[in-house]
Amino acid sequence: METPKPRRPVNVRRPEVRDQVMQDISRYASPLVERIRANGNRLLLDNLDLRLADAFGFCDGVRRAIEIAYATIRLFKDSRIWLIGEIIHNPEVNKQLDSLGLRHLSWNENDPAYDALTADDVVIMPAFGVTRAMRAKLEAQGVQLVDSTCGNVIKVWQRVRSYAAAGVTSVIHGKARHEESMATASQSCGQDGAGNFIMVLDEREAQTVADAITGRLSAESLLQQFGDRVSVGFNPAEHLQEIGLANQTTMLKSETARIQEILRAAVVERDGHADRFHVFDTICDATQSRQDALFRLLEQDLDAMMIIGGYNSSNTTHLAQIAAQRVPTFFVKDATCLVDTHCIRCYDFEARKETERPLPRGAADLQRLARVGITAGASCPANVIEQVIRRLAELRQCPLP
Ligand code: SF4
Repeated sequence: METPKPRRPVNVRRPEVRDQVMQDISRYASPLVERIRANGNRLLLDNLDLRLADAFGFCDGVRRAIEIAYATIRLFKDSRIWLIGEIIHNPEVNKQLDSLGLRHLSWNENDPAYDALTADDVVIMPAFGVTRAMRAKLEAQGVQLVDSTCGNVIKVWQRVRSYAAAGVTSVIHGKARHEESMATASQSCGQDGAGNFIMVLDEREAQTVADAITGRLSAESLLQQFGDRVSVGFNPAEHLQEIGLANQTTMLKSETARIQEILRAAVVERDGHADRFHVFDTICDATQSRQDALFRLLEQDLDAMMIIGGYNSSNTTHLAQIAAQRVPTFFVKDATCLVDTHCIRCYDFEARKETERPLPRGAADLQRLARVGITAGASCPANVIEQVIRRLAELRQCPLP
């Protein structure tokens, strides 16, 4: 059988579907949220003082990926359209896209569904990108690719590829099962696959790598602790000689700064200088601005904080982590989570499951003014934020018109 020719990803944001796509994505807008933004991010009702962060919700990369998904559906009306995993991590957006007939491919190129793809199929790569192996498999099948990978993710790939080309091992600060980190890990092996990586989740794991660098931890122990979160054939004695740090774009800024210091200190202790330690902050501007805006909001006196977004959204989880250190925090996916003042279904990011908690007294007592802060992750649409605001106002018995 003839091997299909790989096809270049096609640009689907074309003038002929532009109006339709704008109409499609208008469902994610919210005039109410825009009004609150224009009012200095504040909404004052009878007994509810709502304060929004000054940066929240959809980032440019997410908006672009969603536009691309809708444009693909409009453009390839007669084809089977597949999406690898989720376009972004938000249940409302994914539900809407699924209702238009998108099919899903798993995050595994060895899945037999990949073998069944033909040149008639259209496959959308999500905002997080895909691994090199997945892309190679799709090209080998000759499918029509549509690429919605965010430019900020591509910047991280460029960085880790340059590390690989220079013989530098990438230390990736990221979540090993997050799509973006898996894609970045594959890129850190470079064009020829000879590059190396090790993936650290947090400061504790960075310290473990630091101990291996300074000789306090054996190579065997390191490999045992990291399992498959290192490149194939990873040899600590060789591959920790020169390291370069990069992050998943949505990690916690403060944490990545501390990881940087831990690793730099280890290299200096071993070498007497930091020449063989490289760093490039790859946390994206959208993540950064939402974290900074939340810190500013938390300087205000609040009774509670609502963080809105998908539970598998990395940047939203970090917003919840930041807020929970200062004020009673409720990480909710949508308005249905606000059952009543005694029962808010919210995500416990430590236990990794949804749980039920009452609003704190200050936010539940209808006789006094409740001050509630609100923010939302970069993948959360404004219409979902509006629904949460409306439900909260309803619980406070001051519904909006
Ligand atoms: S959060 Fe950052 S990396 Fe992710 S889609 Fe938005 S801009 Fe891109």
